[in-house]
Amino acid sequence: MTASTSDPIVRMERVNKHFGDLHVLKDIKLAIKPGEVVVVIGASGSGKSTLIRCINGLEEFQQGHIEVDGNELVPDGKSSKALQRIRTEVGMVFQQFNLFPHLSVLDNVTLAPMKVRGWNRADATETAERLLNRVGISDQASKYPSQLSGGQQQRVALARALAMEPRLMLFDEPTSALDPEMIGEVLDAMRELAREGMTMIIVTHEMGFAREVADRVIFIDRGEIVEEGPPQQVFDSPRNERTQSFLSRVL
Ligand code: ADP
Ligand code: MG
Repeated sequence: MTASTSDPIVRMERVNKHFGDLHVLKDIKLAIKPGEVVVVIGASGSGKSTLIRCINGLEEFQQGHIEVDGNELVPDGKSSKALQRIRTEVGMVFQQFNLFPHLSVLDNVTLAPMKVRGWNRADATETAERLLNRVGISDQASKYPSQLSGGQQQRVALARALAMEPRLMLFDEPTSALDPEMIGEVLDAMRELAREGMTMIIVTHEMGFAREVADRVIFIDRGEIVEEGPPQQVFDSPRNERTQSFLSRVL
């Protein structure tokens, strides 16, 4: 089945997710087009991480359905073909960089393409070097993660995700664990990726960055999408009282 370019790459329909008695995602409906950059904002505990973890199957959900690039995830879905395909097509960058500490920077980036995609070492290395160069750390390739700054480690994590040639990139607060002086270098690399047309869903508290790169901003509160729209509209003239209240606290 070939999808036309205007078909959404992510489609969520009435997705509901519970952790025991806690109703964490409530009737989430969302469609994301190829090339779109969507920023998700909301208070701590509102369900942002859960939302994006559902998209790449890191969390199960109980109702609704999720389609990612033509692969459908169903409620309580255990490991399936669709899940495997989604995991290889969707890249994710977390707040904690989650690099393999015992592998060099280069080996961190070549591992998945070799293991999962079956690339030979020469091809994987060539791609890794190109990506490390692109995120500005080609001179660190033989070092170990612990020898790098947080900002450098996060850029390695980005290169590692990109090495799998993802169709979609998910970011969960990628700069929240960084010292302030390192936030800019990671946001720059993400900005570049957005400019090149990558489809991205980004959870962040960097409101200036959100305003600049987002095609659409989604405000989530207590598991509900309360408001969404272009950044100017959501930031400058939020329609919902809960959005107004949240923004007055963070802006
Ligand atoms: P956010 O990313 O917006 O801070 P999360 O998606 O992490 O929010 O969490 C949403 C809610 O779900 C919070 O109340 C959180 O405590 C709860 N939660 C998250 N993960 C789990 C889990 N594994 N088990 C139980 N509750 C969880
Ligand atoms: Mg979170």
